[in-house]
Amino acid sequence: MPELPEVETVKLGLQKYLVGHKIENVEVKVAKLFEGQSKDIIGAKVKDVRRFGKGLVIDLSNKYSLAIHIKLTGQLIYRDEKTSKFIISKKVGDKIPNQFTHVIFKLDKGAFLYYNDKRRFGWIRVVKTEDVFKMPFFKNMGPEPFKDLTLELFEKIISGRQTIIKPLLMDQTRIGGIGNIYANDALFLAGINPKRRAKDLSPSEIKLLYDSILKVMEKSMKYGGASELNFVNVLGQEGEYQHHSLAYGRQGEKCSKNDGGVIQKNFLAGRGTYFCPVHQK
Ligand SMILES: [Zn+2]
Repeated sequence: MPELPEVETVKLGLQKYLVGHKIENVEVKVAKLFEGQSKDIIGAKVKDVRRFGKGLVIDLSNKYSLAIHIKLTGQLIYRDEKTSKFIISKKVGDKIPNQFTHVIFKLDKGAFLYYNDKRRFGWIRVVKTEDVFKMPFFKNMGPEPFKDLTLELFEKIISGRQTIIKPLLMDQTRIGGIGNIYANDALFLAGINPKRRAKDLSPSEIKLLYDSILKVMEKSMKYGGASELNFVNVLGQEGEYQHHSLAYGRQGEKCSKNDGGVIQKNFLAGRGTYFCPVHQK
């Protein structure tokens, strides 16, 4: 599932291309993906785009917002006269719109914003801007890296908990924005075994883990996110982080620390877990 770096990549693209456009019409082809009244957004201009964890909020000029979660396979693709000449990834399809385009926002100046979603787990909700944080998804989200997750807060979240560290990192109500890719890679970088109990981490390990989370996410944002499954940016292009991951997806490969370890894969709390048995203690 797209995580903080992927959704941040989408946010930056929407800020660049979508802000300033007027929404002229909305065509909803799969009703369950779109909640609220399209009449509340038609005629409004896009003012700003914000991200909270893995969620997006598109703020409009009429005090309404579009709250969006792209979940597993959602794609938001912007096309206008200029960008429609760019080559799109096969992860989008041969053309856009296509059979997976379920919501179409017709914008002014001949532009469109397409919402594609192969698995249809995502959601788009029309909500009053002042009510965005009343939505359980946003209300219940924990502090997130690069924003309000300070080291002190991170220590508080980790310390004394019986929980296994990896699923704790991925619990969106504790920390917003970390999913399976970056939980795996941050633990690899910090040299911590994913199966450790949170309460057993020393203060220096907690500090190292905190720094590692920021490091792997910064690196991913530099590469435009990871294009696992269907992730693409707003121009329909793939990110490159998967070619630079540390442990994620590297089972059977030699550990990049050259410590003689080979990356193992097993399942922890139902999620693929990748680690080096030599340096992750
Ligand atoms: Zn290693």
